[in-house]
Order: sequence, then C-alpha cells, then structure tokens
Amino acid sequence: MEDRTGTTMNRYGWAGHMLRVDLSSGKIRKEESDSYVDEFVGGRGLGQNLLFRELAPGVGALDPRNPLILAAGPLTGTLAPGSGRLSISGKNLLTGGIGSSNVGGHFGPELKYAGFDAVIIEGKSAEPVYLLIEDGKATLYDARHLRGKTTWETEEEVRRAHGRTARILSIGPAGERSAPVACIIADRARAAGRCGFGAVMGSKNLKAIVGRGSLPVEVADPDGFMALAEKARAQVFSTATIQRLRTHGTCGSVGRANASCTIPFRNFQDDHMDEKKLERVARPVFQESYQVRNLSCMGCFFQDTFLYEAKEGEYAPLRVEGFQQNLVWDFVGKLEITDPGAVLAIQALCSKLGMDMDNTSGAIALAFELFEKGIIGEKETEGMRLDWGDHRAVIRLMEKMAHGEGIGSILNQGGYRAAKAIGKGAEQYAVHIKGQDLAEAIRADKGWALGTVVAPRGGGHLNGATMTGMMRISPEESMAVFGTPYGGEQDTYRGKAKVVYWYELFKSAVDTVGLCYFPSKWVDLRFLGPGEYAELLSAATGKKFSGDDLMFLGRKVHNIEKAFNTLHAGFGPEDDYPPGRFFEEPVKSGPYAGALFDRGEWQSMLQEYYRLHGWDPKTGLQTEEILKELGLGFVQEKLTKAGKIRRGP
Ligand code: SF4
Repeated sequence: MEDRTGTTMNRYGWAGHMLRVDLSSGKIRKEESDSYVDEFVGGRGLGQNLLFRELAPGVGALDPRNPLILAAGPLTGTLAPGSGRLSISGKNLLTGGIGSSNVGGHFGPELKYAGFDAVIIEGKSAEPVYLLIEDGKATLYDARHLRGKTTWETEEEVRRAHGRTARILSIGPAGERSAPVACIIADRARAAGRCGFGAVMGSKNLKAIVGRGSLPVEVADPDGFMALAEKARAQVFSTATIQRLRTHGTCGSVGRANASCTIPFRNFQDDHMDEKKLERVARPVFQESYQVRNLSCMGCFFQDTFLYEAKEGEYAPLRVEGFQQNLVWDFVGKLEITDPGAVLAIQALCSKLGMDMDNTSGAIALAFELFEKGIIGEKETEGMRLDWGDHRAVIRLMEKMAHGEGIGSILNQGGYRAAKAIGKGAEQYAVHIKGQDLAEAIRADKGWALGTVVAPRGGGHLNGATMTGMMRISPEESMAVFGTPYGGEQDTYRGKAKVVYWYELFKSAVDTVGLCYFPSKWVDLRFLGPGEYAELLSAATGKKFSGDDLMFLGRKVHNIEKAFNTLHAGFGPEDDYPPGRFFEEPVKSGPYAGALFDRGEWQSMLQEYYRLHGWDPKTGLQTEEILKELGLGFVQEKLTKAGKIRRGP
C-alpha cells in the first residue's frame, strides 16, 4: 500500500515513520519506525525505550544530548475513546531520573496525520527556531521574532503563518529561561507537565513544534474497529460517572476530595479545608457565573473540560480553558486562593507563561510557609508580604519566576531546590517526591500515596495511584480485578501494593497504545480495561494482542523507567518514602483527622510492592531473572555493568 506522500506503508495504526531532528546541525532525518514499534508499540513505551538506549548516565537534562522524544501510539488519532494523546520522554530536570509526560489536545493526532509516529529532537540551535511537521516532511523556521512571547502569543503568530488548523506545542518565557518549573503547552491550555520539559525545550532554543497533516491513519479492520469503538463508547456511557464528568469535569469531585482529605491546605499543613471557604470556588460557582461551553481533546466524547469567561472583576476580560482538580489542590488548597476570578487568572497565567502548576504552586506554597514561620521575610521577597489567600502576591511571584527576577529566580527551581538554596531549615517544608513537588495530599489515602510516591517520574498520581479507596469499591469488585479484597479501603495499608502494581502496568500500557487514561478503569471499574484496549489495538493494527499482552508490555515499560532511575539518579528505597513531615504531622481536621504514615507499615507495604514486581524486597534492585523474563537483555546488561542488579534467586 502507498500512503499519500507516495511512501510504501506496510503498517496499520502506525504512520510508519519517525523524525530525527538535530538542532545543532539543522539536519532532519526521516527513519522507518517499524523496528521500534515492533518491540515497544508506541507512545510512552517507544519513547522510554529510545531514551534508555540512547542517553548515557551522567548527561544532564539541559545538555544538548538529552533528547526530547514525542511519541504517539497506534491508536492515537483514531476513533478509539480518548485518542488525542501524545507521550513525551526525556531526562527529568527536577529529579535527574526518568521524565515522562502525556498531553491531550490535538497535537498527538496531528503528528500522525502529518505522517509520523514519533519525533526525536536532539542538539541545540544557535538561535531560536520552531519546527513545522507537515505531510511527510519537516522544516525548521527562524523563531527570533517569537522570543519572549507567551504561549498564547506564539500560537497566534504561528497560526498566522501556517494556517488556523496548525496544532502547536510551545514554551513561554519560563521555558526560554530553562526554569525547572517550565512545561510545554498545547492548544493554549493543555500542559505537558512535570519533569521540566519546557526548560529542556528552551535549552535547545526550540520555541515551538507545529503539526499540520492531512494523511489518513489506516486501520486493518475498519468495520471491526468501528464496532469496537462504538461498543467502548456505549460501555462508558452506561455509567453515571460519564455524565458527572461531562457536567462537572474533574472538579465535580472537589467535595469528595475534601471529604477524603486529599486537599493540601496551606502547603500540606492540613489535608482538609474549611467547607465554607471551599464553597467559594466550588463547581456551581464556575458553572453559573463563568462557564461558556464544554471542550475536549481531538474528537473525544468525554468533553470533560470547559471554556470559562470572566466578564467582570479584577481579572476581566479573560477567556480560559481549564479548572481541573490539580488547580484546586495547587492553588485553592496549597495557597488558599478562594476568589474564583483569581483562580481562573492563575490558570491562564500558568498556560501563558508555560509553567507547570504542580511545581509552581509547590515552590510558592513553600515560600508562603517560610514567610509565615519567619524563615524568610520582606528582605528576601523585596517588600512583598506572603499571606495565605493573597492572589495578587501569588501572581506577582509567578511573573517573577517566569522572568527569573529576585526571589523568582530561586522559586522557579521548584520547591526542593529552592529550599536547599534558601537553607535555614527550609528543607523540611519542601514537600516533594524524588525532588519534584507533590500536587496532592496523601496522608489519608494509602493506595493513592503509594502510587504517587513510587511513581518513576517523581510525585505523580498518573502512574499507579489508585482511586479505589475514594470510589469505595466493594471487596468483591476489588478481588475480581486486583486479587485483594481491600482495594476499597482508603486509609489502610493492606492490599494496596497489589492495586498499585496493577495500575502501574495498566497506565504504562494505556500511554503506550496512545490513549487517554480517563475512559479507563482508573476512573471507574466499569470503564475500559486491558481486554477492551487489546481488542481495539488488534483491530487497528491487524496484529493479535490480548489484555495480558498489554499488561506485560506495561510491565516492560515500567521496568525500563525503574532502571533509568537507578542508573541516572541512583534512586533507592529511601526515595520511595513519603516526605518526612507526613510521618510526624497528622492531618488536623476533617473525616481523617489524625491520619499520618507509620514507617514500619510503609516499609512492609513497599516491600510487598517490590516483591510483586519481582525486585529485591530490601534494596528494591531489579533482578536478572525478571529482566530476562521480560526480554529486557539490554537493560540487564547496563545494570550489571553498573553493579546495580540482584543476581541469583
Ligand atoms: S477524556 Fe478528557 S482529557 Fe482524555 S482525551 Fe478525552 S477530553 Fe481529553
């Protein structure tokens, strides 16, 4: 079969090609993606495999040799539910270990429509450039005129040059400055967050990546695929959960989050907020006074985000997409911002300046607590008071961080590094995992906590964190999926290792096939699971996959990430523990008042988790046996050479 660029295609689902862009020389090479997708399918699997093989330990995240790898999956851009995703891989600037991000919107599908499964960006351009990828070819353009522009201004300029249908990933001033809190923004509001990828892109002098495509994504069995996509849609629509998400987005669960004590009030000094305060920014306020309409990623029926407009008030006029759960944790919870207009303004500013909201809020909340405790004062803040709830102070700090001014040049390193730079005991108030700021409160939900703490990229719930406790699933439901009856208990340790292990493999697989995690069993056990994804993948690619195959693939990807962390960051079991203050300071209010962590209980849960992975329960090291079983000989070789593997039984 020939595609519309005249190139021979022997793949269904996949586009068949990858791009390798060397920004130092300006050379762009087109490669066949066959050998890569054969082994690791696509998306996160393909990206992490390439990263592991090509980046030597000791090379820093801002070194031109650190590649930024964008990878779609075989189901990206198809009619499968949630197919508007793109995985990004690279070395993590905040942790020194594995970096992995996943972004929605339209860029992932557009990359496929432009004829590519992945783009590997290496080197560093002498001057700012942007990359246009269009129908089988790619070109670098001068971006000097975009220097200093926000992501929104950049998108406007690029669309003026390349048409309204162009899909854009860009960085703002924070990324240009290589601030570790910088992220990459897609479609004005979607963030490829965490890991400092905005800074990595900035260090390469790459202002934007633009996709425009008109090529088809062929599937092997079009009728069968359509029927499966429709079946998947009906399965999701048979629940009340989808209606709740379409009506309220993830913020519909703010009350539930507070009742579950997962709101990190005032930099995690409590995990619960006064309900009256929270009501000021509850979903009905936005629904009635600000909401314009639902929005979604490419073709997705979920439509679980919204366009908001502030027509009056201090921050008007303002139109912005967003207000998801993270915004509640990060700015409503950590900083007590309860002015709805200010919350929207902060959301918009994060997007425009290209700043990851979890890491940005983590550093700012640290500064507020240090100010409260007298560790820093107006001398350090250049005359600013940092009082909880002061949105103007938060916004001023964000601008200083993006532009590297005053205390902003310290805070834009993220909470962990900022605390180290400040000293005077500040470190104990930096709430981070492996060096990356934590978004949510975790003391009262042990399954969520384990998944978040052991996440390879550091402090992210989009790995193994489980919502089964908050969902209150029954012992029977829990047993049927996870092999333990205790998945529905929120504040106990028992059974959580099994649930987290299951979700880790599952999430890696979902990212690898190129779909969104939301229509899956992560959100509701009646949503899509490994079996449904395997059917869709088989019909799309014409290759036979089972649910077990996908979980095996997820396990391989997870083991590559674990090995990367061992080799590049030297992480060990001590890095798989929650922040120290969570063992000493209990939750102060709410239904789980008194909850905190116990070291012995955590250690037992962690060791069980290591055992399930087949890793050494004491050292957490991967074993030769498991890596052989997974067919990861190249990983085994590198770990053996570094003396970081357990040999024998
Ligand atoms: S479920 Fe939501 S986040 Fe996921 S692809 Fe659909 S619209 Fe995007």
